[in-house]
Amino acid sequence: MSANPTKIRGRVLLISAPWPLFNRPSLPLGALKAYLSATIPHLKTEACHLFLQVANALGYTEYQGVSRRVWRAEAVFSALLYPERADQAESLYTGTLKRGHSAPADFQRLVQQVKNVIDDWIGRVDWSALNLVGFSISFCQVTASLYLISRIKAIRPSLPVVVGGSSFSGERSTGLLKVFPHIDYLVVGEGERPLAALLQHLIAPPPRTLANLPQGVLTQDTRVGEGVPFCQLSRLDRLPVPDYDDYFEILAGFSAERRFFATLPVEASRGCWWRRQDTRGRFRGCAFCNLNLQWQGYRTKRPNQVIREVDHLVQRHQVLSLTFADNAFPINHAGSIFDGVRGLGLDLSIFTELRANTSPALLRTMKQAGVDTIQVGIEALSTPLLAKMNKGVRTIDNLSLMKHCESLSIVNASNLMLHFPDSDDTDVNDTLHALDFARWYRPLKTVSFWLGLESPVHRFARRFHIQSVFNHPNLKKLFPESVAAGVRFMIQGYRGDRKRQQKSWRSVEMKMRQWQKEYACMQRQTRGKPALSFRDGGLFLLIDQHFPDQATERHRLTGISAELYRYCHIPRPLVQVADAFAAHRPEQIRAFFQSMIKKRLMFAEDDCYLSLAVPVSLTR
Ligand code: SF4
Repeated sequence: MSANPTKIRGRVLLISAPWPLFNRPSLPLGALKAYLSATIPHLKTEACHLFLQVANALGYTEYQGVSRRVWRAEAVFSALLYPERADQAESLYTGTLKRGHSAPADFQRLVQQVKNVIDDWIGRVDWSALNLVGFSISFCQVTASLYLISRIKAIRPSLPVVVGGSSFSGERSTGLLKVFPHIDYLVVGEGERPLAALLQHLIAPPPRTLANLPQGVLTQDTRVGEGVPFCQLSRLDRLPVPDYDDYFEILAGFSAERRFFATLPVEASRGCWWRRQDTRGRFRGCAFCNLNLQWQGYRTKRPNQVIREVDHLVQRHQVLSLTFADNAFPINHAGSIFDGVRGLGLDLSIFTELRANTSPALLRTMKQAGVDTIQVGIEALSTPLLAKMNKGVRTIDNLSLMKHCESLSIVNASNLMLHFPDSDDTDVNDTLHALDFARWYRPLKTVSFWLGLESPVHRFARRFHIQSVFNHPNLKKLFPESVAAGVRFMIQGYRGDRKRQQKSWRSVEMKMRQWQKEYACMQRQTRGKPALSFRDGGLFLLIDQHFPDQATERHRLTGISAELYRYCHIPRPLVQVADAFAAHRPEQIRAFFQSMIKKRLMFAEDDCYLSLAVPVSLTR
């Protein structure tokens, strides 16, 4: 039986190790601290955003240079964790340095600098006063957290240590406790309820037995059968506002030239609502995604709750940049949330992730609320490839979203994923074709497919022509063999058609580089305005089509042509167009569309048509 929370007194320290983005507090720490403070009132919870102190010591550019690459970042603390293997960590680190990087080139000096910060910090904490230390471990934080745990245990071996977070959340993460005996407890899913219950379990009077260990918490002795015992909040309605005070206290202590205006993480939901089954009914959601291992199902906050949180955090910390941490923004509430945020009357700068089927009307609402940068799950510009990924959108939908971002001056910081297993020449050729039409819009960033632990591609590897999966070979450079073999890490290695993929996607890589250059050139020519735009003259349209280092082409569309062009501002199937323009024969309409496609003024897919030029009226 758990203790009465009002009777529990004690101290807990929650730590976020390097290398998350330094310019924002840790959302897991902020959320956990607020929850513990609300549910166990006499418990003193401190959140240590330790990564900020490391960033300050290294210099922000250098920190960012390290944190940008997962293996580079993990190598630094590997050298501290296993000094006898530091040469292997160093070779992994230096192997990631390419021309133009901003990471420190002198690995040993970097490691020493980081160690100095940690030594200093460890010396300032009163470890004897704590009842529990908790680590939230996400991408790039594995070796750093393990090193810190080993240091803490060397000072006070009996101090209980709990870890959780996205890096160790799936069923296959339980091996962690075996290979790192310093870790006493592992929270396998969402942290709030298990952590509160664990504190009650630890601080309450004995007897404490395995039998009364809270759900969602594993120890060395837990036997994990089928499925791990998640214990998450049934709703997010009552979650308190994340507490970021500790982060801002650290920041306030920096010298004036090291202080900056931080970005506030907020969340409107947990999990992902995109649960459509793939065509063979084997899995749900996107084939490459393992972002949601921490949650079961999808839960959202109420729009008013999100709006209040935004207002509270902005006023408390007096900054105006926000980032929504949602894996999939709650599309049904998005209109109300952003209307409400706009109603706050603040000049916000907001980042959020979105799915590509977001409507232009919603994008406009978001822009009015302050959304200026988004990341959309574009991933591919080939409809068959998008189907293999189970994205549930077509190339034409992706182009449409890219166009609407361009017209609203929303920075579309999205990715094009190369080398997806099972992609073929058709996918590559489709992509090359679509890139001819995407050239007017902000270029996507290329990323190479990586195999995520427990993603559908990982679970159904054979279906994606993957013969075998194993821990990524780089792990053997970070950890001794016995450790590398004992834990399943988030990034997996695989044997499949990788070589063939790399060869066949080379033409796309080249075209992507060309796109970057040409877009930059056209941006200079247009002084940052869209490279393909139209002005509306009522009975006619004037289209300006820019080309890099060439004269601008001008097109005039009149009468029905102008109407058809306007009508296809979103993808329209020909049958729908023919219905709307019943006085005209479908063949005539199609012939007009074909003439537009030839000039790259429209895109077509399966008799569905999209106008590519951006209305100037929206860009003002
Ligand atoms: S990639 Fe995004 S949309 Fe797709 S399953 Fe993952 S979280 Fe959901």
